[in-house]
Amino acid sequence: MKYNDHNYTEANFINHELIGQILENAKNVSNEEIQEVIRKAADKKGLTYEEIAILLQAESEAHVSQIYKIAEKIKSEIYGNRVVIFAPLYVSDYCVNNCKYCGYKRENKFARRKLSEEEIRAEVRILEKMGHKRIALEAGEDPVNCNIDYILDAMKTIYSEASEKSNIRRINVNIASTTVENYKKLKAADIGTYILFQETYHKPTYEDMHPKCIKGDYEYHLTAFDRSMQGGVDDVGAGVLFGLADYKFEVLALMMHNKHLEDNYGVGFHTISVPRIKKAEGMEMTEFNSLIDDATFKKIVAILRIAVPFTGLILSTRETEEIRNELLHHGISQLSAGSCTGVGGYKEEEEGNHDIKQFAISDERSPIEVLKGLIRDGFIPSYCTSCYRMGRTGDRFMKLAKSGEIQHVCQPNALMTLKEYVLDFGDAELREMADHFIAQEIEKIKKPETKQVVIQGLRDLSEGKRDIFL
Ligand code: SAM
Repeated sequence: MKYNDHNYTEANFINHELIGQILENAKNVSNEEIQEVIRKAADKKGLTYEEIAILLQAESEAHVSQIYKIAEKIKSEIYGNRVVIFAPLYVSDYCVNNCKYCGYKRENKFARRKLSEEEIRAEVRILEKMGHKRIALEAGEDPVNCNIDYILDAMKTIYSEASEKSNIRRINVNIASTTVENYKKLKAADIGTYILFQETYHKPTYEDMHPKCIKGDYEYHLTAFDRSMQGGVDDVGAGVLFGLADYKFEVLALMMHNKHLEDNYGVGFHTISVPRIKKAEGMEMTEFNSLIDDATFKKIVAILRIAVPFTGLILSTRETEEIRNELLHHGISQLSAGSCTGVGGYKEEEEGNHDIKQFAISDERSPIEVLKGLIRDGFIPSYCTSCYRMGRTGDRFMKLAKSGEIQHVCQPNALMTLKEYVLDFGDAELREMADHFIAQEIEKIKKPETKQVVIQGLRDLSEGKRDIFL
């Protein structure tokens, strides 16, 4: 069944009853059955809802540690040791919604604003100076003060601000659910991934969390990716705001959403984000009764990595350095770095001011510090943006990813973009660490012709060439 703007209320692909039943049935399975699922998980073929539920219900230390091991193995086989780096850019905090968890909710009274063209340029210049190439554009929902034309103009400004030497090469966009027409416009404006978090798939909780506002329409929000696919935006990034409802329900619902997209449009989520609720203006953490602890969070990430091996998993600076480092081993493949979560936040940070943020962050390290930490832990920070620029999106990307062929472009691109970062933004310490590390990583490349391409690319970069990618 396909959905369009008029029949979206037919959306029934998140079957609450079925999820409840599957979780209940998975409660009392035998040790042999759990072992069987763990064995199957290692094959990277994905799992059924029933099998995912069995992993979600597995509590014993022995089972959980096996789940971590498999997730780590899958992560390293598919993503190697690469970690994609990005930063958010908040352009407007006008918001007509009243999400109980969000600092931007309309009942929070503060002077709202959106960035002018000049202010966007200023933010982009700062992001460029940090070495960023990939950003997630963020805005609250306000059809009058922040309409689609404002977003499209902002994208144009960002792409055109990009200088030749160090530029923003990919804009992912995280804005409210909209129409097929607007997704077509975003596609024409060169959107990377369209990101939208469902917040919670549990309808009663969703309605409770979004009282009296446009976003409160569960079905319209849930069918946003259908409209996005129909509008030609086939890279979509999902997410659940963990802490609102039972995490086991949310993970199975995410899988049902993914399958719905695969069945109807040939491709599921390009990425999944795993935000956990953080303290924000106008709310107290005690208002939320499904908060998850670190151990549970780790388990969720590992199970997602096993359930959808080829979907990128994104972790933001909402989490501490320690948890971010740990979760890279269990499945995370993209990290934000040096983030500000307020409108005009990068300039204010530079000037020492602080404004209303959407929520508090926990990892305050600069990108260069994040990069040093990653290299120390054996990860390659990657600023690669080549897939979408080469048209490898949607099912074309997934086919390449599933065949394993993507490795032969991702690894060289990661090393070359790291080298570019080091040349343009590195200090003496990073230069030394990275050059040594890159040399080691080149030795690991198996195909001689790929190795040659990287060696030549690194030489060209040192001689001043930029933006080299496969
Ligand atoms: N207005 C868009 C929408 O409605 O989807 C963009 C959303 S906002 C800029 C990005 C995300 O931040 C939200 O989808 C929500 O999941 C998350 N967020 C909001 N408040 C949060 C909080 N207190 N802690 C952690 N994440 C939060």
